[in-house]
Amino acid sequence: MKYTEIQAEIIKKYRVDLCDGTRCKDGDWSRTHAHPKQRRVCKWKQANSIQSTFTLLHEVGHIETHQSWMRRAESEYHATVWALERCKEYGIEVPAKIIKEYQDYIDDEKARGLRRGGKGYAELKLVPEKKKKSTTTRADIIRKLEEIKELIACTDADELTDYAREKAYIDLCDAIDQINENDE
Ligand SMILES: [Zn+2]
Ligand SMILES: [Zn+2]
Repeated sequence: MKYTEIQAEIIKKYRVDLCDGTRCKDGDWSRTHAHPKQRRVCKWKQANSIQSTFTLLHEVGHIETHQSWMRRAESEYHATVWALERCKEYGIEVPAKIIKEYQDYIDDEKARGLRRGGKGYAELKLVPEKKKKSTTTRADIIRKLEEIKELIACTDADELTDYAREKAYIDLCDAIDQINENDE
């Protein structure tokens, strides 16, 4: 399916009223935007690209997820989550660059909201942050230390004095022994 076909389908399915900007009251709005109540998307530039498709989906996301209680950061977040869900449905893989762009925007709006005294914001993360569980083993640490040991022994960096080189080498040998023994 071409992007333009997906776009046409979305426009039809969600009954989107496209507007070139001439019907906008604030005619000076230069960017693509949505009027949720009128189900209208203005100034969207159609192109057979993921970028153009995602812009449309994001705006339709505003129409579909609009709630009066939502603050700016929240409405941007929910519109983007909605767009990502539709992409999943269509099997469109959204480039990380686009996700980052929208995440930065949401983060900026949230920061602004907080500066103005807004409270109780959720995380609003498009991609849940993975808890980084360390998979480093003792063997990994030893391997790294061995590498540094070799580096120190073989380096021709002339700012390294013989004394420092020897001392560091011995200390590294000690460190490796310690980790190997792994005493309490
Ligand atoms: Zn408008
Ligand atoms: Zn938006």
